[in-house]
Amino acid sequence: MFLFNYTDALAFSSAVNLIVGITLLLAWRRDRRQLFSRDLGWAYLAQICVPLAYYLMRQPQVAVQITGMLAVVTTAALYLALVMLGSARLAGFAPTRVQSGVVFVCLLLVGLVLIQVHPRLAQALSATLHVAAGIVAMGWLWRLGAGERLVGVMLVLVGANQFLFVVMGEPGLGVQLAIAGVLRLTLGLSLLHAAVSRSLDESRRLRQRFQQLTERSHQGVAVVQGEELTYANPALLRIYGLSSLSEVNTLWRDATMPEKERAQARERHRQIVGGELAQANWDGLRYRFDGTPIHLRFSAWRVDWDGKPAEQVVVTDETAQHNATQALLHQATHDELTGLPNRSALLQRLRVLCGKPDNAFALVLLDVDRFKLFNEAHGHPVGDEVLRTLATTLEHTLAGEAEVMRLGEDEFALLAHRASDEDGASALTQRVRKRLSRALTVHRYEFFLDVSMGVALYPTTTDNPEALLRAANAAMHQAKAVPGTSLQFAQERFERGSGIELDAEQGLRSGVSNEEFVLFYQPKVEARSGALVGFEALVRWDRPGLGRIAPNDFIPAAERTGLIVPLGRLILAQACQQLARWQRELQTALPVAVNVSPLQLLDAGFPGMVANTLQQYGVSPTLLTLEITESAAVTHLEQARDQIREMRDHGVQVALDDFGTGFSSLNLLRSLPVSAVKIDRSLIEPLPAVDASAVVKAICQLAGVLQLDVVAEGIETEAQAQAARLAGCHVLQGSLYAVPLTADDAQGWLKRR
Ligand code: C2E
Ligand code: MG
Ligand code: MG
Repeated sequence: MFLFNYTDALAFSSAVNLIVGITLLLAWRRDRRQLFSRDLGWAYLAQICVPLAYYLMRQPQVAVQITGMLAVVTTAALYLALVMLGSARLAGFAPTRVQSGVVFVCLLLVGLVLIQVHPRLAQALSATLHVAAGIVAMGWLWRLGAGERLVGVMLVLVGANQFLFVVMGEPGLGVQLAIAGVLRLTLGLSLLHAAVSRSLDESRRLRQRFQQLTERSHQGVAVVQGEELTYANPALLRIYGLSSLSEVNTLWRDATMPEKERAQARERHRQIVGGELAQANWDGLRYRFDGTPIHLRFSAWRVDWDGKPAEQVVVTDETAQHNATQALLHQATHDELTGLPNRSALLQRLRVLCGKPDNAFALVLLDVDRFKLFNEAHGHPVGDEVLRTLATTLEHTLAGEAEVMRLGEDEFALLAHRASDEDGASALTQRVRKRLSRALTVHRYEFFLDVSMGVALYPTTTDNPEALLRAANAAMHQAKAVPGTSLQFAQERFERGSGIELDAEQGLRSGVSNEEFVLFYQPKVEARSGALVGFEALVRWDRPGLGRIAPNDFIPAAERTGLIVPLGRLILAQACQQLARWQRELQTALPVAVNVSPLQLLDAGFPGMVANTLQQYGVSPTLLTLEITESAAVTHLEQARDQIREMRDHGVQVALDDFGTGFSSLNLLRSLPVSAVKIDRSLIEPLPAVDASAVVKAICQLAGVLQLDVVAEGIETEAQAQAARLAGCHVLQGSLYAVPLTADDAQGWLKRR
């Protein structure tokens, strides 16, 4: 029988080893994760060398015999080590290189020792170890499945087969080789089965993982080849409003992608697929298939899809965040009541417009006259409705001519791009006035509104956006304060009248930091006795090189630039310092009145600042009176009322200055917590004329009812003093008694008292 023929059996066994070994190595090359396939493949190939080594061992030359012996032991040790390593890997263990190396060296040493004793002994050990390794491997593999179990059984049988040689010696070699060939072939086939089914399991797992990652992802995933959409996950279909991929074959069309982005997308796709661009990120506006705009963020890279290069795109739908941001932005830049752009939007627009060369435009600030009183009479809901109606009326009237914005309360801004000079701005305000001469209809009622407007021109008034707004604001307040004026243009340069040539704003700024301001003190006397009862502090600017400047020439500029706030702080501190010095040096002090600008009054931190300054200089609050102008109080009634109340809570008195010029109602005077009124010089000047006396008397009577002190200012003649006294004024102030004095002269008055 051919099987028992040694040469045929050797050829058969070697062929099996070669074919199975190479097949296992090829299987490993296809799927490099199947390392056991590689180890066992090499084990098979190592086995091919065994017959050659035995052949050498049987040669007469001693050197060749030794070489053969070494080869037998080495290949046997290598084979066994590889079988153990491969079985362990097949069972899911991961032996390290060192562990594998140690096993190989141990096997080599033991083999070398035993083969010296007798080759059969070495063969017996090899067979025993093989069977033992097979049994251990069978234990590991038993739980893994039928294929793996067969591998375990085969390993044991291959080992057991080696005992044939041990028992029968050389004559049994043919039989052993023949059986070994069959067993190894079976083992090889079961190993291949294991390798293939593991590869299949692995790819099934990968496919499931891919599905889990993409099919359930909230992000859209698409694969694009050319312009064709070859894969789209459910999230992508959802984002674009599709129910299945069959409804669409490309996303590159008018309906979803704006025309101008398509060329860019084409170029990007070319670069990604061509490998020029490793990854691309972009975002933009797209459209769902029903036309709804959506905001998407994209990331893309190259993938192989069905053997061809493709672009994989991951899409995140950021529409919700985008809309929320837009809403916040809108909220921050728009007025809630009317939906018009607000003050910060106006400033942004002004900055843009002022940044463009050769631009010329007009900024009109518009304020409804006596709107507070209107609110009080009709209630806030009606007031709000009137403001809304006014907003739409202004927009209709000025459509295409001016942007309408609401700055707060009853204050609006008109930004007129085409009105570049006074004539243009006047024409525009005329149109507004003409429209407002007709009634506004709100809830079937008709309301007539009067408005005051202030205009600043860019670049004629100033070329600075903030200063432009302040200039228009100052002009608007001026229009409000001066009776019969409903339109006022901002002065081009406030120093024009005072003859100051240098840049006044710069001068004021350094004036404040260099403390170039001095206070003069004008005595106030008791009307009956003529005794000194206090002073009014009046500021002067000692401007280096330009001499002494009167307050009316720089206070408006300080208000326009906002410098009035630090300047006011400086004035108050100087007045308190002076009061403290008089107290220290004369052990006596009389109240000092300090003038306060409307702008200071609007600063929420003002009452706190006053209290701090008094405390810093150790001055009693009862020694300080603040004078605020009547027009300021009327214009900003709500804030004025709260601020005055807060200052009175600190113990500071407040007087209403220039009374008789601000058209305040009696009702209003009652609602303001002031302690005194100062009748304006324009009402005192005509005294002792009968009608003028009657007016002053009426004011004094009203003040009497409200328990307010009355001060008459601008008393220049004894006749005026006498008339004021008769009319009922309690305190008199004017050049008849003293003009504003230096601190030293005022101190002389104090000493004489
Ligand atoms: P005011 O508060 O009504 O001050 C009275 C003004 O009348 C002062 O002018 C004073 O010098 C002037 N005056 C006093 N007696 C007579 C008189 O018999 N005849 C005439 N013709 N005038 C008299 P002044 O000092 O030029 O101040 C003008 C305005 O500037 C003040 O009016 C006040 O509104 C403002 N002002 C003055 N000092 C300050 C200040 O420290 N801060 C602020 N915010 N404004 C100030
Ligand atoms: Mg005053
Ligand atoms: Mg006054």
